Amino acid sequence: MLAVGLFAFRAIPGLRAYFGFRGKRLITCPETHKAAAVDVAAGEAAVGAFLSEPTLRLKECSRWPERQDCGQQCLQQIEVSPENCLVWNIVSTWYEGKQCVFCHKTLSGLHHLDHAPALLSPDHKSVEWRELRPEQLLDVFSTHRPVCWNCHVTETFRRLHPELVVDRKLEPKRIT
Ligand SMILES: [Zn+2]
Repeated sequence: MLAVGLFAFRAIPGLRAYFGFRGKRLITCPETHKAAAVDVAAGEAAVGAFLSEPTLRLKECSRWPERQDCGQQCLQQIEVSPENCLVWNIVSTWYEGKQCVFCHKTLSGLHHLDHAPALLSPDHKSVEWRELRPEQLLDVFSTHRPVCWNCHVTETFRRLHPELVVDRKLEPKRIT
């Protein structure tokens, strides 16, 4: 009974570490001073938290395999603010309150069950944010504009099948 209680007691920080450190994150690489996308070894962090030995290690980095033997100094940034470097949160904050360039609908942050919003490139192609490499997102945010999912679908169709789209002007008589 005591053992079960002790196990449950230790399992809570383990689970918290696992769920807290999952997901793709953006950090500023201390070597290049540019954005890099990393994954923390969440399973290992969970076992570490369970055994009261915090172990934070990277599982993946966009600069690997070339720089696989780096000192992983960027982990400090994740330790200081694990939430703020989550790609999901960064993207969500960027969309929040912005307007779709086509329909001017105000966008909210990301929601797990919703379709992903998109971005309009300077050459007028819309692309879903998930299709972009995470380490490019910060640069992309300065050159691209927000597009809602509905307009992304419409614009993609219009771009791929211009022969099937007819633009009808609104007739004032029909509206009144
Ligand atoms: Zn729209």
